[in-house]
Amino acid sequence: SAKEKGKNTYCFYSLQMDEILQKRFEFEQSLKKAVENEEFVLYYQPIINLNNMKIAGAEALIRWIHPEKGFIPPLEFIPIAEQTGLISQIGKWVVKRALFDLGHFMQTLNGNFYVSVNVSLREFSSASFVESILSSIDNFKVEPSSLGIEITESVAMVDPQNTIDILNSLKKNRIKILLDDFGTGYSSLNYLKQLPIDVVKIDRSFIQNMTDDQKEQKIAKSLIDLSHILELKVVAEGIENEKQAELLKSFMCDFGQGYLFGKPMPKEEFLELAKKF
Ligand code: C2E
Ligand code: MG
Ligand code: MG
Ligand code: MG
Repeated sequence: SAKEKGKNTYCFYSLQMDEILQKRFEFEQSLKKAVENEEFVLYYQPIINLNNMKIAGAEALIRWIHPEKGFIPPLEFIPIAEQTGLISQIGKWVVKRALFDLGHFMQTLNGNFYVSVNVSLREFSSASFVESILSSIDNFKVEPSSLGIEITESVAMVDPQNTIDILNSLKKNRIKILLDDFGTGYSSLNYLKQLPIDVVKIDRSFIQNMTDDQKEQKIAKSLIDLSHILELKVVAEGIENEKQAELLKSFMCDFGQGYLFGKPMPKEEFLELAKKF
């Protein structure tokens, strides 16, 4: 009967739910363990000055090396870390490791070099965020201007006035500020011009289809022009081929990042690549 069928359906979904919840619980437990055992590594991807083709900096990108499952990309665990609160410990680890590595990079690379780290919503809105960054900079004795903080346009928009306050205190301490995934967060021009940022990173989605689409080219160019009007430097993300790089250069884009110049890679490999630029 329909009633029985309904009952079975209910049982079926309920079992499936159990399974999903169980998987989720196990994932959270293993992420907790990962934090305790420091199962993370930072990879570095070069950011290239398109005017002289030299390395200007690097973005630090986290990877989780799970003892059994191997490599887990950030988009699979950062959101869970954010929901469970584990992100605050992970974020602190990222900053410390990046500053530690920066010390090594500085021995080899020129003084203007910087490393930028990604910061998610919960980290950024935590009361101790700025203080914690400043104390790490102090401990590692690096130039504050050689650390960059990347926040996405959508994180910046959650609490606009608070964002301005936090960014101002970072800026006052000479930390570099990059607006990540620019163009995807619907922030108003009025708001953008109030943000004390140094660099905007144009989202990969605007670069991807640029080569054979005039409209896409015009959009990319106007995002670059707009950033320059606001007196900001521009990084184009996700450059994968020469044609994109050439177009972006002709649009006066300042910096580029993408597989064309190098994928995110371990520290030692990054240093080898950086020496060649
Ligand atoms: P994002 O900050 O926008 O980083 C750029 C992403 O684009 C990276 O993915 C990078 O590997 C990828 N990418 C770079 N060049 C190219 C290219 O030419 N083609 C393509 N198809 N992709 C390219 P990844 O490393 O998987 O990171 C994904 C996202 O995870 C990051 O996006 C960032 O939002 C987040 N994330 C990474 N590391 C951290 C971290 O330490 N903390 C936090 N809170 N988030 C992080
Ligand atoms: Mg980023
Ligand atoms: Mg980005
Ligand atoms: Mg992104």
